[in-house]
Amino acid sequence: MTVPRKVVIIGSGPAGYTAAIYAARANLAPLMLTGLVAGGQLMLTTLVENYPGFVDGLMGPDLMEAMYKQAERFGTEMIAADATAVDCTRRPFIVRAGDTEYPAQTVIIATGATARTLGLPSERALTGRGVSTCATCDGFFFKDQDIMVVGGGDSALEEALYLARLGRKVDVVHRRDRLRASKIMQERAQKNPKIGFIWNSVVDEIFDVTTGKVRAVRLRDVQTGERSEHAVDGLFVAIGHEPNTALFRGQIDLLPNGYVKVLAGTTQTSVPGVFAAGDVQDSVWRQAVTAAGSGCMAALEAERYLEATATD
Ligand code: NAP
Repeated sequence: MTVPRKVVIIGSGPAGYTAAIYAARANLAPLMLTGLVAGGQLMLTTLVENYPGFVDGLMGPDLMEAMYKQAERFGTEMIAADATAVDCTRRPFIVRAGDTEYPAQTVIIATGATARTLGLPSERALTGRGVSTCATCDGFFFKDQDIMVVGGGDSALEEALYLARLGRKVDVVHRRDRLRASKIMQERAQKNPKIGFIWNSVVDEIFDVTTGKVRAVRLRDVQTGERSEHAVDGLFVAIGHEPNTALFRGQIDLLPNGYVKVLAGTTQTSVPGVFAAGDVQDSVWRQAVTAAGSGCMAALEAERYLEATATD
């Protein structure tokens, strides 16, 4: 059998790369399965202005490329493949990518979360060009402009409240006539003079793919079927996130919302030697910098675990 790797990292967002940088610099020769498409959610953003250290900001894909190179420079072995199966029930653990098995003494799960989308081709085409799933990342670009937020949960209202500080007007579009969000968030949003609500409606088209910039959306009233066009500069889709935890279901404990359960203040999962970092274990903060921070923690915890369990 292949000699087990000390650390196998699954996923290549800020959490995975930071874990790789720390593990590589600690001489743990980490192996990283970056996924077929490396870089995570920041590959879908344009300018990132809130990652510390970059006075003028930088493009999301450029930040991820820099992290990739930094992790590689210290000796991380990168495999451009998706993990297809994981066995945390035996030791060494087994991480599989297609037909190849990677035995591992420790595993760092950094598979992230995926923002739910509306599924419109125009939404995909205009992501980063007026369509966003992150107000704290992109709200700044819509100062004094007209903004629309889709969703009726706490995330949608949190985004709307944040955007109301920047934009001229924020309309929340919800597919029902009642919000799912907590009472306190509802009260805050309803009290805000800049926030309006459009009920029983869904976005069924975003204009204008030909110019590569959002100028309007078409809404469909789900009760009457009536369609109407609304001029907007930015559309924020806040209909929830899905943690990428399907591989780990039944192997490590997950929370009822599907996120990996970690011991508070650590990255330790229910299986000793398996750590989780970044958005896959964080449904609250979900920032690149918090993900990077927990990636650092995971690598340091893996190092301590390896020291504590070393037999030679
Ligand atoms: P959520 O509670 O699942 O809400 C998602 C919202 O999006 C729902 O209103 C849902 O409509 C709507 N939606 C889902 N799919 C849709 C689609 N295809 N088209 C149009 N609308 C769609 O998700 P979340 O708001 O991200 O919150 C996730 C968890 O984090 C919750 O437990 C929440 O309380 C928590 N959270 C808390 C805070 C806070 O306390 N400050 C902030 C953010 C999140 P329906 O209502 O019709 O299902």
